[in-house]
Amino acid sequence: MAKEKILIIEDNPMNMELFNDLLEAEGYLILQAVNGKDGVEMAKSEMPDLILLDYGLPDINGMEVIERLKRDPRTKDVVIIVCTASVMKQEREKVMDAGCKEFITKPIDTGKFIKTIAKFLQNSKRGGRNGRRKD
Ligand code: MN
Repeated sequence: MAKEKILIIEDNPMNMELFNDLLEAEGYLILQAVNGKDGVEMAKSEMPDLILLDYGLPDINGMEVIERLKRDPRTKDVVIIVCTASVMKQEREKVMDAGCKEFITKPIDTGKFIKTIAKFLQNSKRGGRNGRRKD
């Protein structure tokens, strides 16, 4: 079975390293982007199975990243999970409406973090993703 590809969009080097190491240890293939624009471009060229998105980025915020991904037919169905320290309830609802599947709160609970990622990768496989996955 091909390794599932996860794109991490995160500007904090310590968080990036932590997420990268945890997910790599689970056997996933990891791609990294340190700002929103690079993240969107990488999503379009690499077609990850899941995107772990930091909400506060140096160029465009998480909401803008989600909107850009949703506007493009190539990336509109990729599972997006937002990882953030704090988001107001109202903001959170807007982000979920825009197409984010789940929030993970920082600092992360590592066990829960791994489980959440695995659960959404399972769901995206079952959903068919344009028949790309036949394993
Ligand atoms: Mn950040």
